[in-house]
Amino acid sequence: MLHAVFPGSFDPPTLGHLNIIERGSSIFDKLLVVVAVNPRKKYFFSDEERKAMMLELIKPWKNVSVEICDTLIVDFMRRRNIRILLRGVRGVDDFSYEFELSMMNKSLDSNIETVFMTTDPEYFVLRSSTIKELASFHGNVSGMVPPLVVEALKARFA
Ligand code: ADP
Repeated sequence: MLHAVFPGSFDPPTLGHLNIIERGSSIFDKLLVVVAVNPRKKYFFSDEERKAMMLELIKPWKNVSVEICDTLIVDFMRRRNIRILLRGVRGVDDFSYEFELSMMNKSLDSNIETVFMTTDPEYFVLRSSTIKELASFHGNVSGMVPPLVVEALKARFA
C-alpha cells in the first residue's frame, strides 16, 4: 500500500492544490491531505474553515481524506506510519524552498521520502496569497479557485 500525505496551509485551497490532489490520488493508494496549523503563522481562514473546505473539495476522490496537524509533520507521519510526503512545485523558487524543507524533514526523520510533483502548466501562476489579494479588491478569482472558495472569499471581503 502506497500511502502519502500532502501537507499545506491551503489558505484557501486553489485549483493548483486540487490538481496535485487529483494526480496524487491516481498514484498513491491513499492520500491524506494535511491542513497545517502553525501557531507562528497567521492564517486568513481558520483551521476548521480550511479543513471544512478541503472536506468538500476531496469528495470526488474516494482514496483521499483530510486531517488537521498541529505538530511537526514528521511526527504526524510517524504516528500514522506514513513515509511519503507529497509537495507541489510551481517553479525554481518553490523548488529551492521545498528542497530545503525536504532536507530538514530528512534530518528529523531519515525514513521520510519527499516526492515533488510539478504543477500542470495552467496552474503555474496560482498562489493562495495572490488570490486573497485579488479577492480583497473584488477581482474575479473564479478561474483560480473552486466555486465554494469563490463564495467563501466573497463572504469574507463583502
Ligand atoms: P505551505 O504553506 O505549506 O507552502 P500552501 O498551501 O501554500 O502551503 O501549499 C501547499 C503545497 O501545494 C506546497 O507544496 C505548494 O508548493 C503546493 N502548491 C501550491 N500552489 C500550487 C500550484 N498552483 N500548483 C502546484 N502546487 C502548488
